[in-house]
This record gives sequence, C-alpha cells and structure tokens, in this order.
Amino acid sequence: MHLTNADLHCHSNVSDGTLTPEALAERARTNGVELWALTDHDELAGQRRARDAALALGMDYLTGTEISVSFAGQTVHIVGLGFDDEDEALHAGLAATRGGRLQRAHDMAAGLAQVGIAGAFEGALKYVGNPELISRTHFARFLVDSGVCPDTHSVFRRYLTEGHPGYVPHHWAKLGDAVRWITQAGGVAVIAHPGRYRFTPTEEYALFTEFIAHGGQGVEVMTGSHSAAEHIRYADTAIEFGLAASRGSDFHAPGESRTELGSLPDLPGRLQPVWDLLAPRVHRAPD
Ligand code: AMP
Ligand code: MN
Ligand code: MN
Ligand code: MN
Repeated sequence: MHLTNADLHCHSNVSDGTLTPEALAERARTNGVELWALTDHDELAGQRRARDAALALGMDYLTGTEISVSFAGQTVHIVGLGFDDEDEALHAGLAATRGGRLQRAHDMAAGLAQVGIAGAFEGALKYVGNPELISRTHFARFLVDSGVCPDTHSVFRRYLTEGHPGYVPHHWAKLGDAVRWITQAGGVAVIAHPGRYRFTPTEEYALFTEFIAHGGQGVEVMTGSHSAAEHIRYADTAIEFGLAASRGSDFHAPGESRTELGSLPDLPGRLQPVWDLLAPRVHRAPD
C-alpha cells in the first residue's frame, strides 16, 4: 500500500521561517512531498502563495496555520488544517492573537538590555519578513549572528525561556477559541508537538479532554519535535483519545531545523491519518 508523503507543519518568512512560501513549495516537492500545508504562526498571509505554488508543482495542498494558545500556564500550539482561508472570524481571531507581539518584542529587548545586550529589538527586526509576526525566533537569529550564542537552541535556553532575561510572559488565545475558529471555518484542529510541553499527567489529560470537548479532532504524532519514544507514546495517546494523527516536520530554515521537509517516518499503520478526515478540503493538483 502506498502511504501518502504528507508534511502538514512548516513555516515561511511570513512567520518565523526563512524561506518564501514559493521556495518552501519547491523544497517540499523536491523532497517527495505529495500533500503539503504551510502553517505559519497566527497568520494566513502566505496561504494563497503556498497553494498556488504547490498546485503549479503538481502537489496537493491543505490550508494551514499554527495558533498560539495559553493553557495551564504554558504556551500550547494548535495547528489548523483544511479551513476556508477567507473565513472572517478566523481572520479576526488570528489578528487578535498576533496583536500583542510588537509590545512583547519591545519588552523582551528591554530585558536583554538589562543584561548588557543592546539594540536587540532593532536587531531582531532585521530578520523579520512580516512586521506583525516578530517572534522569539527572530531574536534568536540576531543573537546567533551577533556572536552572543553559538546556535538558536542555546539562545532559547539562556535567554528566551521562562526564568531568563529575554522572556516575557504573554497571554495568547484561549484553547476553545482557537479550536472553534478552525472548526467553524470548516477545518480540523490538531494539537501540535505534544511532547514539547512540560505538563503534569493531570494537566496533559486536561489538555486532551478539553481540546476534544471544544471539537478538536487531531494530534501530531510524527513531528520533528518528537523523539522515537515520543512517536510511540503519542501514537498510543491518539488511540486512547480517538484522535486522528498528523505528520509534519515543523521545518523553519535550512541548517537550523533538525528535520527536513517531507523526511519524517510514516505514521504507524494503526492510526487514522488526519488527512483522511480532510479529503474534501484538499486542493488537488491537476493530473
Ligand atoms: P514565539 O511564538 O515568538 O513565542 O516563538 C516560538 C517559536 O520559537 C517556536 O515556534 C519555535 O520556532 C521557536 N522555538 C521555541 N523553542 C525553541 C528552542 N528551544 N530552540 C529553537 N527554537 C525554539
Ligand atoms: Mn516557529
Ligand atoms: Mn509550534
Ligand atoms: Mn511550528
């Protein structure tokens, strides 16, 4: 049986990736991706470009985004797939979610200035492709290129995570709102990279049960953020909660992302692929 090479999670320079939607489409196609979704953080501005490029290359396309949510004191990411990208409530919700990023970036720069790193706001801004989407990743790239840290991972560890000088707590969207924006626009909501969160078992159980109660239907099992053990663990979780499973590299940039577009292992055969739920929502490339 042929398993679809689906990659349903990655970022362009419309959020915190470095490649254009068109360059990502070409890279995905070159790597053998058959069904692709661009999932920029809190933003749909790259969707038409990604879809047009995918279809021109003979690759099927699903609309996508990755919404930042605050849940039990942590940031959780909810991927939306297959929605109507003209839905007004979804656009308004994402605009509200993006809204605080600029002030947060100024506050992050102020924290970094206190430990002797001057000009971080202006520095990070030079790496930004979309002024509404300044993110920690842009600060990380600036701090690497200016020699403060050897790689983006160490910037996050030393400066940009809780308890460190460039970290600013932030209120993102509510879980139920994010799930509803996606599902009411005809899409499917997916819990992104569950292995990345630092929840207690009780909190994780609450995340999954509340997500499902709000209408969420999927979980990322195969992701560049998971270890081999987490692939198995969250395959079991998908079965336990009756969720469809997704697969996505979370590719951001050549040389920076540890997982290349389209290169993850296949979903375990016992799982229902999330794209089975989305068949009518796929934009099909002409034969
Ligand atoms: P933000 O939405 O501004 O809070 O930035 C979150 C983004 O930072 C994520 O989507 C990742 O791209 C990136 N990120 C988070 N943690 C790390 C890490 N430990 N190493 C590298 N990148 C990270
Ligand atoms: Mn990111
Ligand atoms: Mn994420
Ligand atoms: Mn992502």
